[in-house]
Amino acid sequence: MALTYTPVDDIPQIVQELRATFKSGLTKPLNYRREQLKGLFNLLDENEELFRESTFKDLHKPPAETLLGEILTVKQECHEAIKNLEKWAAKQPIKTGLVNKMDGVHIRKDPLGMVLIIGAWNYPTNLLLAPAVGAIAAGNTVVLKPSEVSSHTAALITRLLPKYLDSRSYRIINGAATETTVLLEHKFDHIFYTGSGNIGKIIMGAAAKQLTPVTLELGGKSPAFISKEVDLTIAARRIAFGKYFNCGQTCIAPDYVIIERGSEDELITQINAAILEFYTAAPQTSDSYGRIVNKNHFHRLKSILDKTQGKVVTGGDTQEDDLYIAPTVVLGVKPEDSLMEAELFGPILPIMVVDSIDEGIDYVNDHDQPLALYVFSKSSKVTDHILDNTRSGGVLVNDTLTHFLVPGLPFGGTGPSGIGNYHGQRSFDVFSHERSTLVKSLGMEKVNDLKYPPYTEKKISW
Ligand code: NAD
Repeated sequence: MALTYTPVDDIPQIVQELRATFKSGLTKPLNYRREQLKGLFNLLDENEELFRESTFKDLHKPPAETLLGEILTVKQECHEAIKNLEKWAAKQPIKTGLVNKMDGVHIRKDPLGMVLIIGAWNYPTNLLLAPAVGAIAAGNTVVLKPSEVSSHTAALITRLLPKYLDSRSYRIINGAATETTVLLEHKFDHIFYTGSGNIGKIIMGAAAKQLTPVTLELGGKSPAFISKEVDLTIAARRIAFGKYFNCGQTCIAPDYVIIERGSEDELITQINAAILEFYTAAPQTSDSYGRIVNKNHFHRLKSILDKTQGKVVTGGDTQEDDLYIAPTVVLGVKPEDSLMEAELFGPILPIMVVDSIDEGIDYVNDHDQPLALYVFSKSSKVTDHILDNTRSGGVLVNDTLTHFLVPGLPFGGTGPSGIGNYHGQRSFDVFSHERSTLVKSLGMEKVNDLKYPPYTEKKISW
């Protein structure tokens, strides 16, 4: 399915229509929002097979990974929003003192207006539609801009969306940098962007010109600390799962391992066992192993791997015409290594051996705050020590990736790994304006007299 870019001349009309819809109040009633959320749920539910096919074409994504990482998570978000909409949208009463005893004081949860959601290619359904759940639930009109890199999924969503959702309120604009640049010239009430920090700066710059608030879901090098007392078999399986899921192209993949000296050989043995169990001795033929999204990313990864000073102890083989990079482990990686320069976003796992956990903490703190930080330890003392002395968007102890699946946990970065967060009620809040509201009683005018001029001596002597 070829992806047709939206002609840039059509963009002003689309934006104008969505703004007019918002003004008309169509998206505000809770029943309307609920029906649209059900539509989004059904879109995913009834077309699962098509999504499996499109993400396979885009990323060679194994069907189970599409189900878990794309479809189920967004369906869960829809389900949560439908179930809790009444509660989330309710006016929040505020406790008052004597002065406002007769008044109504509350916070309204008003929609922001017309919002823009820009998705990334690695989870092309999830990263576009999960934020859309919050935007729809909160009563906004929405422009969706899928990543052009995952073109099959973008084309599929473009075809399905009007069948399940009201086109007067929710529209897709397709394209790459040119189209997105034109889109960003328009005034939105919020921009929600997922992708790299470099483009994030462009998005925030464009938003700043209109004073538009942004949520930026970015990336970073997420470390996995392994403390020596932990069961390395379990740690290895869970790290291999998180690293090689979607062929390493996951914003919260454990980017590298920090392990105390003496345990590294056993860890590698166990990671090798996990790779063998998950993907067989020939991962290239395994139905459970993905591919690199395109040649640019393939060459980026290959060149980083070619330059490493570490020892490739597992995998390392690549095949350009199949965009294949084997599940790879590199031992003895030093801080100045090519593998440690930037987020890897591929199936290469550097292992950095340290003499103490504190050495690892220092390393992490000398670099940008990551999106996720993983700790494998049986000891709450060790875990707390690491968490108390580092910063990251989120934390997961003794597993990888699965904190993303908990709707009650806000998901997002800090510093260079992002601004803001979402999932569950937080998605609703991101796209709502907390409108402080005081409804004064028309009674007790005598008491109000106190604030009116003339400011007599009697009025100020209390
Ligand atoms: P990408 O290439 O799909 O780009 C993201 C979006 O930006 C796309 O919609 C694209 O069309 C748009 N874009 C590209 N160039 C642009 C320009 N010049 N002006 C305006 N818009 C432009 O994705 P990517 O950037 O390669 O994504 C990978 C990065 O995203 C990684 O760093 C990863 O960690 C991060 N990421 C973060 C999360 C998260 O939830 N925090 C999730 C996935 C990916």
